[in-house]
Amino acid sequence: MFTRISLVVLDLSLTDPKIIEELSEGEEAFLCFLCKVKITEKKYVTSVSGGTPYHTFTNPYGFSYNVMTVSYCEMVREVSEPVLEHTWFPGYAWSILGCQNCSEHLGWRFSSAKQKPQSFYCLIRDKLILSV
Ligand SMILES: [Zn+2]
Repeated sequence: MFTRISLVVLDLSLTDPKIIEELSEGEEAFLCFLCKVKITEKKYVTSVSGGTPYHTFTNPYGFSYNVMTVSYCEMVREVSEPVLEHTWFPGYAWSILGCQNCSEHLGWRFSSAKQKPQSFYCLIRDKLILSV
């Protein structure tokens, strides 16, 4: 586990030094920025395409999101049906993800019956805070 996190940090050092700061030692959990419930942990941050787990995507309405992909979340719920249109990950359907506690939009769940992994989460980095 430790090795994987180290690799992620190395990978990111080329693109975004701010992320290294955020992933500094002792900070382990990501919380909903609004109600502070735990959403995921640093160890679940994972790349789904072989590259970085951090991306910037723009939706068809022109809104840009800085996101990270994670393999596991808690205290979230899907608040829309999965659709394939305008997906950021080819072959994966997306659904909107809300905080189970305060309903804030935190990101999206991506799912596919045919691909591996079968599902993952894409969380909006501005909607999360780091905690020990
Ligand atoms: Zn919340």
